[in-house]
Amino acid sequence: MPHIISRRSFIGTSGALAATLTTTAGAASLQSSTTARLKGLPLPAGARLPATPPRRKRDDSVGIAIVGLGGYALNQIMPRIEQAQRAHISALVSGNPEKLAQVGTAYGVPADARYAYEDFDRIAADDRIDAVYIILPTAFHADFTIRAFAAGKHVLCEKPMALSSAECEAMIAAGRRANRTLMIAYRCHFEPYNVEAMRLMRERAVGAIRLIRTDQSYRAGPTTPAQNWRFNRALAGGGPLEDYGLYGVQSALYLSGEMPDSISATTFQPKGDPRFTEIFAHVGAQWTFPSGAVAQLATAYDSAGANFGQVRGTDGTLIMDPATSYSGQRMRIEGRNARDFTPGDPTVQFAGQLDHFTSAIRDGTPILTDGEMGLRDLRLIEATYASARTGRTVRLAPDGRMLG
Ligand code: NDP
Repeated sequence: MPHIISRRSFIGTSGALAATLTTTAGAASLQSSTTARLKGLPLPAGARLPATPPRRKRDDSVGIAIVGLGGYALNQIMPRIEQAQRAHISALVSGNPEKLAQVGTAYGVPADARYAYEDFDRIAADDRIDAVYIILPTAFHADFTIRAFAAGKHVLCEKPMALSSAECEAMIAAGRRANRTLMIAYRCHFEPYNVEAMRLMRERAVGAIRLIRTDQSYRAGPTTPAQNWRFNRALAGGGPLEDYGLYGVQSALYLSGEMPDSISATTFQPKGDPRFTEIFAHVGAQWTFPSGAVAQLATAYDSAGANFGQVRGTDGTLIMDPATSYSGQRMRIEGRNARDFTPGDPTVQFAGQLDHFTSAIRDGTPILTDGEMGLRDLRLIEATYASARTGRTVRLAPDGRMLG
């Protein structure tokens, strides 16, 4: 059916279609007590700094400015940049001058390549910087992306791409104007288990897909929106859906190979809990696909931990548990083609993501996880909140825009 083909094609060719898209924001009914303000934080607990600075390996290595020296940057990304084929850290951007000096020394970044947020626009004149990797709270992704493009740099931006589809569109437009690369750091596209799962589902290893279930949840300790940006509406949006739950959104899309045509959702915001004065604690959604398949997505900051993906087809069930972690993935099929899978080391996803980005910059290869993919996902997030707010099923166009 043409309807199905167009939705499937959007998964693969979203970039071509997105040029014609318009904004349809569906903001959540949440109140924020603050506006988003940049703020330097102390060195995160358990931060791993290298004993000796990593070496640049190749002449064509891409110089990257890391923007935001938080937990993910320091503990996951920066220690693994050396494993990438042609990327090196050439500059740092931070709001904490002591941490900037300490991390700069450990990574061998010269003092004149260490920037404060207010100096960010000066990177335009710094030829050591080819690209920036934005690892800031979500509220700052759009602004720093647009400013990096204005400075003539390429951008790798952490997920979620931004707080709204309107911001995503502005980021994409800025990249086009500057003729620079924009990639969203959806690391699972470079992780062997998830890549193998995509391949298996394309080859109908469980038959025709009937039901997808995802659950990305954990129970957060005591905190408040002032203490933790993830619980702050102005900095993070609606909460777990944009953060952990986005892995479930992504999985449901790349495992089904389809765009949903409807979403119905519920949100839960417990009263009197200081963690959830500005964000939702739980989000649950049901999607329908043109093929007849259904996806059930759950995500929470206030339930026992889960990082789970399951695809049930007519002939068997794919089970991924944990599904999207940094390491330790497990995957099996039950049913007719029953077997366990061990397709590779999940930790290569970090370097693989960077290799993909630097190939696009140096060789002009296409970006798989581009701005249009980030925009598509923000549209689905907005549709989820719109459904929860109105109590109605939201119908979707093939590009994820709400039809009403
Ligand atoms: P952290 O809270 O650990 O660090 C965020 C950093 O952002 C801070 O250290 C600070 O850097 C900077 N910052 C600037 N303004 C603020 C502010 N107002 N409040 C808090 N921090 C501020 O966050 P994470 O490292 O966990 O997350 C950063 C980004 O990475 C997010 O987009 C998140 O979604 C993404 N992420 C992605 C993951 C993945 O698996 N792909 C996993 C974890 C996070 P400084 O002190 O240097 O100024």
